Amino acid sequence: MSLDNSTGSGWALEHTYTSLPEKFFDFQSPVPVKEPQLILLNNTLCNQLGLEFTHVSNEDIAKLFAGNALPEGSRPFAQAYAGHQFGNFTMLGDGRAIMLGEQTTPDGKRFDIQFKGSGRTVFSRGGDGRATLKAMLREYLISEAMYALGIPSTRSLAVVTTGEPVYREQVNAGAIMTRVAQSHIRVGTFEFARQYLTEADLKALLDYTIQRHYSHCAESDNPTLSFFHEVMHRQAALIAQWVRVGFIHGVMNTDNMSIAGETIDYGPCAFMNGYDPRTVFSSIDTQGRYAFGNQAQIAHWNLSVLASALLPLFHTDKETAVSIAQEALNAFPQVYRTQWLIQMRLKLGLTGEREGDRELIEDLLALMQQHSLDYTNTFLALGSQDLTQMEEMKLPEFQAWYLRWVKRAGAEGRSLESALELMAANNPQFIPRNHLVEEALAHAVQGDLGFFETLLDVLTTPYRPNQAFLHYQTAPQMAWEENYKTFCGT
Ligand code: AMP
Ligand code: MG
Repeated sequence: MSLDNSTGSGWALEHTYTSLPEKFFDFQSPVPVKEPQLILLNNTLCNQLGLEFTHVSNEDIAKLFAGNALPEGSRPFAQAYAGHQFGNFTMLGDGRAIMLGEQTTPDGKRFDIQFKGSGRTVFSRGGDGRATLKAMLREYLISEAMYALGIPSTRSLAVVTTGEPVYREQVNAGAIMTRVAQSHIRVGTFEFARQYLTEADLKALLDYTIQRHYSHCAESDNPTLSFFHEVMHRQAALIAQWVRVGFIHGVMNTDNMSIAGETIDYGPCAFMNGYDPRTVFSSIDTQGRYAFGNQAQIAHWNLSVLASALLPLFHTDKETAVSIAQEALNAFPQVYRTQWLIQMRLKLGLTGEREGDRELIEDLLALMQQHSLDYTNTFLALGSQDLTQMEEMKLPEFQAWYLRWVKRAGAEGRSLESALELMAANNPQFIPRNHLVEEALAHAVQGDLGFFETLLDVLTTPYRPNQAFLHYQTAPQMAWEENYKTFCGT
């Protein structure tokens, strides 16, 4: 008996999602590509997933992650979903993504394995079903950086080029990325069910999602309500984590909000340099809807869409259902404030809760905004106790703030050292600064991955100081920043 090892070993794919009513998905294979070539393979993630490719040639690995050769047990499908994009409801679905299946890891966790850029599906509308190499490398780099920062995120397993051109404003190299997620169930999946399917279908989706992500909710008196609370808490916690590192998602449409509370869909995302809550880089976000400081409000808005999709399941009586949903939703600002305080206290090395913490944090942010101080580097300067690093810190108002902070950090006889340790664990040395990301991508699409790989390496241990990488910490010139735009384009 000959064993075909060309797709690697360790695959343990299931398709529990396809136990849902059939309108939730469409069986569809990836469209084979002309000339697959392996660009990146995430070996650490392979290990975590229990996948093994050591005896497989790069050629065969490329065929696998291009969808030209399917692994054992796969039965690919595209998912249906809808969503509010910049506030407007639209039918969407996986227009260029295909689910290979759900992989169970050696430690018993279940992850979706999904191709992005793998060809047209019934949900493609006018699109070509493809993705550019640049966009897929961008998602790979930033999602892995987010994971290393300790922030819930989808991950990236592989990137292959297709050998086929992708036409956008220019001709680009086509690529396929393999995305790994706790699931791809979105707020928009519930919107889809509510808008186009029956109440029984909506209930089936809820039951499935509860079982997969929030199984303890099934025991509660009102599982829909407990589920909603859980999603809300995870989302609030996620946004507070984004704020901790200065991340701007850029396109927080309801179809890009994961029910499992992971950061998903890295399109026009970016990291803030100088602190300003109005910061927005996305070329399509002309109104600043998804600006840095707006993200919590938008999460609240998205959750209101989820609540409204779930309405018939909160209670059979419509009025009662509305009042249950409204009350649950009204808790969001407080839930978020709590999460925000947790993250900001960590950034300042504060333990316990004291009156005046919020003011202390807000006063620092106000100073940073007033003087356009770099968000990341200001916390590093504070944490290093070398205040000469930044000229602005010599200002009397800053010195006054600093004394307040020293007093608070050392409250209850705590040593300053322990505060500094906490800061070091929560304030990254290295973030994917926009100018570095762009430089890495510009070289990579020309076929030179050297800088991309170095940057990926730097971003893999973001909290560890490294004298050799000091230049990765420098903020770009204001002029560079002012002209910088990120494109969804894709
Ligand atoms: P995104 O902006 O990536 O969140 O995608 C929004 C919607 O557009 C989703 O339904 C995608 O599947 C779809 N989409 C994006 N790009 C393409 C493409 N090149 N071909 C087909 N559908 C696409
Ligand atoms: Mg999306």
